Amino acid sequence: MIVNTSMLKRDLCPICRSNLVAVNYIDKQGQHHYRNSCASCIRKGRKIKEPPPLWAKQGYKKKERCEMCGFKARTPKQMFVYHVDGSLKNASPLNLKTICANCQIELAGTRLPWRAAPLVPDF
Ligand SMILES: [Zn+2]
Ligand SMILES: [Zn+2]
Repeated sequence: MIVNTSMLKRDLCPICRSNLVAVNYIDKQGQHHYRNSCASCIRKGRKIKEPPPLWAKQGYKKKERCEMCGFKARTPKQMFVYHVDGSLKNASPLNLKTICANCQIELAGTRLPWRAAPLVPDF
């Protein structure tokens, strides 16, 4: 029996942690390419639960108003949390700002170091 070394690299499904990840395709060199999760999780449409972003863990709440233009959001989905110093690891309240989608676009054109924080899943 020929041992297929690429089989050894097959990971456990990160969602259910009980099945191996599904094979996506096998290329011309016989190399196996894998999906991110197992066949059963793919079928059920299960997704990896992302950990809450640091700012949410620190208890920071999105503000109702944009801290740049004062725009009042109708839904928190319109608002983004930014790290003023550009470091996503610095979640001190002084380093966090709530910015609306409009200002987010404007920010992209400035030299400010501000960086968007990960969003809260299912928000
Ligand atoms: Zn799975
Ligand atoms: Zn704004």
